[in-house]
Amino acid sequence: MLTVGIAMLQGARHEHMYSIMRAAEIIDAEVEIRELRKASDVEGVDAFILPGGESTAMKIASRSENLYSKIWEQIRENQTPVLGTCAGAILLSQQKLIETSIVRNAFGRQKESFQAEIKISIEGESNFPGVFIRAPRFMEGSRYPMAWLNEEVVGVLEGNTMALTFHPELTEDFRFHVWLLERAKQRE
Ligand code: GLN
Repeated sequence: MLTVGIAMLQGARHEHMYSIMRAAEIIDAEVEIRELRKASDVEGVDAFILPGGESTAMKIASRSENLYSKIWEQIRENQTPVLGTCAGAILLSQQKLIETSIVRNAFGRQKESFQAEIKISIEGESNFPGVFIRAPRFMEGSRYPMAWLNEEVVGVLEGNTMALTFHPELTEDFRFHVWLLERAKQRE
């Protein structure tokens, strides 16, 4: 049984739950979703999802419960697999859990939100429907790219940590969630 912890303080959480359940069906894995609201919820989680939303609001919401400090501690100590999307990717970069730096809200007003076909590299290269919502941008020079919008890096994989500036949970393509479950399974 894999326990997937989803940070529940703010943002697009239920879409990730649905995607994880679908991914579990696809690879026939037994998965339990743990809704993470406070530090004591973090113990025993096999994989984390850090949803998109508003990274500032997430940090404020976590202050009283210390949820995020516990999550960062566990990722640092155990290299627990993580999927961070959009605001989740911002938090990972700010925490230096990935070395790639990120700039918030960096697409400018006219392109605040858009959909575009992107290229991804998980188990071979293929296309993916990229949904970008007030997305951040990685700074140039990532050493670990795994998703591209034209030439620009929009996803990185550093060790067991995947950070994406787009929202796979808003699509019916569950490969990122499958990746997370597979990564967690390999460590069982
Ligand atoms: N603009 C948000 C932030 O800066 C991120 C947007 C998102 O997660 N969709 O935190």
